[in-house]
Amino acid sequence: MQTQTIENPFNQSKIPSLINESEALSILSGKTPLLEAVWSANKPREEFFGKKVRIHILDNIKNGHCPEDCGYCAQRKNGNSGIQEYTLKNPDEIFESAKKAKESGAYRFCMVTAGTGPNKNAIGSLSSTIKRISEELGMKVCLSAGILDNEKAMVLKEAGLDRYNHNLNTSESHYGEICTTHTFSDRINTLKAMNDVGVGLCSGVIVGMGESFEDIINVAFKLKELKVISIPINFFIQVAGHAIKNPNTLTPEYCIRLLCVFRLINPDSEIRVAAGREGHLRSLQSMSLMIANSLFASGYLNIKGSDINQTIQMINDCGYEADFDSHEGNMIYEKTDIYSEDNIKNLYKYKKSIPS
Ligand code: SF4
Repeated sequence: MQTQTIENPFNQSKIPSLINESEALSILSGKTPLLEAVWSANKPREEFFGKKVRIHILDNIKNGHCPEDCGYCAQRKNGNSGIQEYTLKNPDEIFESAKKAKESGAYRFCMVTAGTGPNKNAIGSLSSTIKRISEELGMKVCLSAGILDNEKAMVLKEAGLDRYNHNLNTSESHYGEICTTHTFSDRINTLKAMNDVGVGLCSGVIVGMGESFEDIINVAFKLKELKVISIPINFFIQVAGHAIKNPNTLTPEYCIRLLCVFRLINPDSEIRVAAGREGHLRSLQSMSLMIANSLFASGYLNIKGSDINQTIQMINDCGYEADFDSHEGNMIYEKTDIYSEDNIKNLYKYKKSIPS
């Protein structure tokens, strides 16, 4: 199906990169002093996002049953990771989860499904759920559902989808090392399909999967080229059943340098410290917030993380504040009066009640 590109300026990054490839290499290789890199990265971080730190919580609506072989994933075929598998939750169940999240203070509802991508039936079910959540609850809906074409992208857009997550994960030249059942181009095409219909892009990486500095730099610039507005940076966790051959050793200092590179190449994008922050950044977690402006709390898809109270404490300790205002970059979509620290604690309780 031919679609006309729909510009969505609120959901695209616009500011050019602040460093070039050789400057990025100098940061990653340790040639640039650490504090010099952090100082440079902190400027755009505070210019575009002030002192706010956004907290994201995931809702896994389908787990396991995946025919793909992404080497980093506990849900991959033949992974034998022992995770609990369940098929797509029914629409009423998902709607109820969104309702509880809204009552607890969330303005954005993020749904994640395992698998190659949704078939026609799943698209129908997802789009009616998206429509209901966005129209009846007034929430922004994000979805992560794998590979899609333009036709499916348009159906989801028309249902009211605000943002689509599909991580590039690594560079094009390294992609074959981490997955053999689909290609880097499949991922790019999905992002382009979503961009063409005006859905905002959330796409990031998993670092530590045997990639080189050049791979990191290439994927960071690729995300810039695609005007990705939200970039989760995951630090590879060696989950049971993974198939990554030569994982890198990630020191806390190197993780900070990586974040600086992504921030300086993508100055006005939301940079999110995602899975693995606890184990890989360790005592430098609070320093990461001087560069990144968002994080996940309460765990990841199949892995436990630090709880919301510890996370809020860390945010406050370094002089930042948890974002309760629904700002997107410099744009304000809506003002919510229901945000409060108490509500965020409730959100954590709500997350605990989701079967996983
Ligand atoms: S990352 Fe997604 S597509 Fe890849 S194995 Fe895991 S669930 Fe399947």
